[in-house]
Amino acid sequence: ADIRTAFEAALTYHKDFPKEGITFVDFFPVFRDAALVKKIVAEHATAIAMRGAVTGVTVTHIAGLDSRGFMLGPMIAAEMNLPFVPVRKAGKLPGKTIMAEYKLEYGSAKIEVQEDAVPKGATFAVVDDLLATGGTMTAAVGLLMKAGAKVDATYVAIELAGLGAASKVGAPVFAVSSVTDE
Ligand code: 5GP
Repeated sequence: ADIRTAFEAALTYHKDFPKEGITFVDFFPVFRDAALVKKIVAEHATAIAMRGAVTGVTVTHIAGLDSRGFMLGPMIAAEMNLPFVPVRKAGKLPGKTIMAEYKLEYGSAKIEVQEDAVPKGATFAVVDDLLATGGTMTAAVGLLMKAGAKVDATYVAIELAGLGAASKVGAPVFAVSSVTDE
């Protein structure tokens, strides 16, 4: 079946979760459909390779965002024979880390990367499940740059349509599919 139809069958929508006024798109059911997971991985691996062929820029590392970027990211990295680097919520990673803080609708959040996971000259593709406001992805791109790396582009399975998030990220955003959160 077509990838959009498969997403429509898998994604579930949860009104007022995790708080009132937010409709949360649950991505975990996607992992019950192995064929869909393989398609996402193949689409992103192909997109990263094709972009490299066009731009001449070679991606050397795949980063994934806490926590569903930790599920898709390593599969894409392994498919491409590249190292995977986690960008985690602050306070969870041992050793020397580099931190970035970013604003949420209420309050702020902190994310970290391990210093020794970002060698000199690294060029990243960044992976996550879903782009909503784009705040998290923007912060992750900033964090990797602060760590001394280049960020070539970002890759999400799902983009919430109509939020205009992609233009804010500071790197190109490639989405397999877009949905409206209703
Ligand atoms: P943003 O920073 O773009 O507003 O939110 C994106 C980040 O929060 C991603 O790491 C994503 O996993 C998570 N997120 C925010 N809203 C949703 C949602 O409705 N569904 C899912 N699966 N993740 C969300």
